[in-house]
Amino acid sequence: MASIAEKIISIKGQIPEQVRLVAVSKTQPMTMIEEAMAAGQLIFGENKALEMRDKYEALPKNIHWHFIGHLQSNKVKYIAPFVKLIHSVDGLNLLEEINKQALKNDRIISCLLQFHIASEETKFGLSVEEAYALLRSDEFKQMKNIKITGVMGMASNTFDTSIIRQEFQYLRTIFQNIQYDFFLGDIFFRELSMGMSGDYQIAIQEGSTLIRVGSSIFGVRNYS
Ligand SMILES: *Cc1c(COP(=O)(O)O)cnc(C)c1O
Repeated sequence: MASIAEKIISIKGQIPEQVRLVAVSKTQPMTMIEEAMAAGQLIFGENKALEMRDKYEALPKNIHWHFIGHLQSNKVKYIAPFVKLIHSVDGLNLLEEINKQALKNDRIISCLLQFHIASEETKFGLSVEEAYALLRSDEFKQMKNIKITGVMGMASNTFDTSIIRQEFQYLRTIFQNIQYDFFLGDIFFRELSMGMSGDYQIAIQEGSTLIRVGSSIFGVRNYS
């Protein structure tokens, strides 16, 4: 079986230069993160605030930590001092809390708006209407310590690749519309976070700039 380092090198060899790999290390031990780092991987994705904070404290400080899961407002304070990108903003209240904690830490925190693109009910995310209301609100316009740098979504968990492709195309259309309507000429608005272990090849074909890959690198997760 290939090592973590070999899997990282293999995936990086398959993806175009403009696509960045987020190695999703949630639930995985720090030794595995160190193995991935030895292969040159520096971006890691986590979905629990306290787990990410603990790993941040214990591991080298040159890691770029991306938060990819549902984030409760009361947990933002644990990650605000160091998080590089929050992929999963799904409401104005959460964004206000991120802005507040970023200000406290004298930082500007980059965020992606997460969209609900899958047919399943369980996946978090905004509708297009909710996102437009958020972006048009006075509350949003007053936030100085957050920067919206793109969008994120998760496709349906299905073997039907045509459905997955349609959902990624839908997310790309949302990205382009929001760029045109709110971020024209803003070079920081450029990220399309889509694609996981099972579907990142399709996501790249549909314009992904950030793929979030866990099990294809680290093996199956052990939820205890
Ligand atoms: C767990 C997770 C991933 C990685 O999933 P794999 O199928 O293991 O690659 C990607 N994105 C999000 C939001 C996740 O929660």
